[in-house]
Amino acid sequence: MATRRFAILTCMDARLDPTRLLGVPEGSAHVLRNAGGRVTEETLQALILSYQVLGTREWFLIQHTDCGVRLSDASLATVLTDQAPTIVSGAPASFSDLTTAVAADLARIDLHPHVPGEVQVFGYVYDVRNNQLLEVQPGSRVGK
Ligand SMILES: [Zn+2]
Repeated sequence: MATRRFAILTCMDARLDPTRLLGVPEGSAHVLRNAGGRVTEETLQALILSYQVLGTREWFLIQHTDCGVRLSDASLATVLTDQAPTIVSGAPASFSDLTTAVAADLARIDLHPHVPGEVQVFGYVYDVRNNQLLEVQPGSRVGK
């Protein structure tokens, strides 16, 4: 394929401009956003669709410091129960440690049975104060 194509999963936070952060050309990336940039079954389905339809071969996961949805699980459950009780079961997990969260989400992608082995997945923590991306090393890509 002549043109590299990308998919980016990141937080809905308006301070993040993911294509600019990664320096990928405009129009070459599918950008998925949710609260926290967490990997969920729904985002996995969208990523796999992105692979099939746009032909994305590189997926980027970006979570960030100073995230408004960085609440404890208990706090998040309370907020969601108070304000939107119907979405509690589908809510992304909150996270107290970004690197651990990114690594866990990379593993979740890696272990998913429908994620094609040729897809390369990269995880980052974006530091909003320093405007820096820190790459999170994935676990092993076992059996791909
Ligand atoms: Zn955020």
